[in-house]
Amino acid sequence: MRGLVTKSTGSWYWVEGEEGKRIQCRIKGKFRTKGIKTTNPIAVGDWVHYELEPDQDSAVITALEPRKNYIIRRSINLSKQAQVIGANLDQAMLVVTLASPPTSLGFIDRFLVTAEAYDIPAFLVFNKLDLFSEEGLEILEDYMAIYEHIGYPCYAVSAREKTNIEEIRLLLQDKITLVSGHSGVGKSTLINAIEPSVALKTGEISDWSDKGKHTTTFAEMIDLSFGGKLIDTPGIRELGIVDIEKAELAHFFPEMRARLNECRFHNCRHINEPGCVVLEAVENGEIESSRYDSYLSIYHNQDTRN
Ligand code: GDP
Ligand code: ZN
Repeated sequence: MRGLVTKSTGSWYWVEGEEGKRIQCRIKGKFRTKGIKTTNPIAVGDWVHYELEPDQDSAVITALEPRKNYIIRRSINLSKQAQVIGANLDQAMLVVTLASPPTSLGFIDRFLVTAEAYDIPAFLVFNKLDLFSEEGLEILEDYMAIYEHIGYPCYAVSAREKTNIEEIRLLLQDKITLVSGHSGVGKSTLINAIEPSVALKTGEISDWSDKGKHTTTFAEMIDLSFGGKLIDTPGIRELGIVDIEKAELAHFFPEMRARLNECRFHNCRHINEPGCVVLEAVENGEIESSRYDSYLSIYHNQDTRN
């Protein structure tokens, strides 16, 4: 039988069969993610094959279908390992806010680099629109323009007042969307505004959640009544950019990628080389300095390989 993994706790996986019924599964055998060491062999969004146990109440996962894509984060405890957060994603939605507490541009840029590296289209939702004065709105528009300009669609909403929520529903309809955001940005409030029945659904499955210790840090799939699914990432503060090579990093900044062939040196790092068109574009304002700062900070971070 074939099914979609909708939740995992580390040792247990919930799999939705093609007839729509959810069954609790264990894993048999070894499943590997090519190129990286992972803490979880199977992730939310994976398509798997399973066989019912004699009791018919649980099942065993016997095979994992090839993934279209997946997104990971670096494991906190085991720095050489990574956790697969979600697989087979159509797009990623990053919820951010410029107020209480503001999301840093570095955080936004690291998320976008990860999405680029895994080839997942991303858009930004700026929440808490209701908190902005007229002056604040101008600043908000400036920030949105930075990202719109380089090709990331931006939307301003108020999850609390349910402003512009219908626009977000249209973006999510019939797609599998990873939802991410720093805690406190209003991600849960937004998901509830998008799909009011969600609170009820999380209640339904909470009775078995103590079987796994790390429940809160695992992703969970949420059905949208208007079509499509969200992969929520509760407790996941930041994604990992673990397998990006330094020399590749500029390719994951679309505004740099467009210029790379024009640097004087083919192995230009875009840091202090003469004839670097990236540096030129930063100086004349064509590349936003906050974006370039994020490039440098990721470049010098231990997260990237040499
Ligand atoms: P999460 O940690 O991202 O899931 O954030 P929550 O949904 O728990 O919200 C964090 C806080 O922000 C709560 O106090 C919410 O009431 C508040 N909040 C969420 N959305 C909005 C909004 O659109 N406007 C305002 N003013 N507050 C909001
Ligand atoms: Zn350069």
